[in-house]
Amino acid sequence: MEYIIIKQKRKTASIAIDKDLRVVVKVPKYMSQTAIKKLVAEHETWIETTLKKKKVLYETQDFIKTGRLLYLGNYWPVTFENGNNQQGKVVFNETSGFKIQTTGDEKQIRGLVELFFKERAKIYLKELSDEYAARLGVQYHKITIRKQATRWGSCSRQGNLSYNLKILCAPTDMIAYVVLHEVMHLRHFNHSQAFWKAMEEEMPDYKRRMNYFKQFGQNFMI
Ligand SMILES: [Zn+2]
Repeated sequence: MEYIIIKQKRKTASIAIDKDLRVVVKVPKYMSQTAIKKLVAEHETWIETTLKKKKVLYETQDFIKTGRLLYLGNYWPVTFENGNNQQGKVVFNETSGFKIQTTGDEKQIRGLVELFFKERAKIYLKELSDEYAARLGVQYHKITIRKQATRWGSCSRQGNLSYNLKILCAPTDMIAYVVLHEVMHLRHFNHSQAFWKAMEEEMPDYKRRMNYFKQFGQNFMI
């Protein structure tokens, strides 16, 4: 099995599959080659299963591979056009899906799509946050949109809301769950019974929506 070894100042070793489907082994500086080999051998089954799962996900969900992009709960066709400006552009409409004007560079394409999601997220998630904040009679400080691996949202003690731009892959009613959840933290800063009770009052089917992310969240690949 091929893998990349990264020697670092750290106490324990870790094995992970990166986004380019490479096996990355991070080890403490003093760890010997024999010990590294042994460690990888011990985790071979896990590595192979995870790698296989990630490959399937990549082949069925990555928009460059599949030519379709998950946005607001629907898969939209993605077409590429030769763009004569270096900046490139993403155009979306509900009839033809995504049109990406690009020089053809993969990094540029991914950057453009990420930017599109970020811009849409900024507007849409602010609107929803404002709506729920008004309804609950709470106030937030500011909103940040970031791309994160698995965390959909968070709320800080200072009242800052943070959302993962990947939630824009989900249908709008599912996005509403994430927003209500974070805004609700402005009232209950924990996951106490009172928090969940208030969630249920505002959104009686919140559990179903919460489960949606558990079930389909891994498909959110942008
Ligand atoms: Zn929470």
